[in-house]
Amino acid sequence: MSQIEYYVEAESTCARCDGTGMIMHPLWEEFEKEFHSIVVRTENADKAMQWWNENGYYESPDIECECPDCDGRGLIIERVLLEDAIQAIMTRDQA
Ligand SMILES: [Zn+2]
Repeated sequence: MSQIEYYVEAESTCARCDGTGMIMHPLWEEFEKEFHSIVVRTENADKAMQWWNENGYYESPDIECECPDCDGRGLIIERVLLEDAIQAIMTRDQA
C-alpha cells in the first residue's frame, strides 16, 4: 500500500518587509551609505546623478520597490507536512 503524505500551507508575515510588501530599493540603501543621506543636496546633485548613471539608471528609481522575498504579498506561504504543522502547533502551545 502506498503511503499518502498530507500537506498544509503555513502562512507567516514576511520578515524582510515586515508584512508591508515593500522594501527600500537596494540601490537606495547603497546610495544612503555612499552619500550618508537619501536627501540629495544641491552641491551633490551632479555627483548623485553620476552615481545613478554608473549603476545603470538614467533617473533615480522609486525609493520603495516590491519585496522580492514575498513578491509584494507581505506573506510567506510554505507547504509543510501536516505532521510537522501539528508538532509545531503543540510545541508553540506548550511554550
Ligand atoms: Zn516581503
